[in-house]
Amino acid sequence: MTNLTQLQKEVMDYDKKYGWNKDKESHIVLHMSEELGEISRRILRLEGYKTEKFKRAELAEELVDLLYLTLKLANKFDIDMEKEWYAAFERYEKKSSRK
Ligand SMILES: [Mg+2]
Repeated sequence: MTNLTQLQKEVMDYDKKYGWNKDKESHIVLHMSEELGEISRRILRLEGYKTEKFKRAELAEELVDLLYLTLKLANKFDIDMEKEWYAAFERYEKKSSRK
């Protein structure tokens, strides 16, 4: 099974292959906004606000696009996302609203 560290390394290798590891942080964030908009559009279709037909496969693609960019941005700052993932869940468990 692939873990988050492996996925993050795959993103790094892929970006280096095409020279996209040099993309500016601000461009990555703007691209993330674009992908979030694409996710939003799929949800609006699901709920009938947009007339196009909702397709689960399209939502999956957009979620992956956003994950790819999240890992790409993390790579720019040398952030270990798997480590941060588990640290975040520890914080979530300790929140007073969970008790
Ligand atoms: Mg997309």
